[in-house]
Amino acid sequence: MNKMILVFAAALAISCGDNKKEEKNELKIGAPVEEAAPAQTTDDKVAEVTITGNDQMKYDKSEIRVKAGQKVKLTLKHVGTMDKTVMGHNWALLTQDADMAAVGQAAASAADNDYIPADMADKIIVHTKMLGGGESDTIEFDAPAPGTYTFMCTFPGHYALMHGKFIVE
Ligand code: ZN
Repeated sequence: MNKMILVFAAALAISCGDNKKEEKNELKIGAPVEEAAPAQTTDDKVAEVTITGNDQMKYDKSEIRVKAGQKVKLTLKHVGTMDKTVMGHNWALLTQDADMAAVGQAAASAADNDYIPADMADKIIVHTKMLGGGESDTIEFDAPAPGTYTFMCTFPGHYALMHGKFIVE
């Protein structure tokens, strides 16, 4: 009689153990599927742009393209060696209704404000610092509404050569 009970009890214990194992395995198989959903990459959200200006009064880009809704991280590098008082460069993004020549002419008399004319502030969406040779500046801003904009250097006389299109797609 005693042996019969022991065998029965052992059989119950094994059977219970097996059921628990199966339940655990089912949970493990089911869980990772939802966790695998891909996260959006930052590449779609941030447009990193680098543009240079040199001692020959030129940018290395005449066109910059970004996408609507992106954050723009723009770096201007002055790759020349001349001082900012004689070959200063900045990067200024103008509103679509701005007249580049008018901004350029007003900027020429704004030496005390890094050549950013206060009376044209509403025509300038964003701008970097004025840089001399070897310097760089990075700015971050939200891409404006889709369209074509003008960018320029506001140092006196530079906009004739130093300008380009900033296109938001
Ligand atoms: Zn310049």
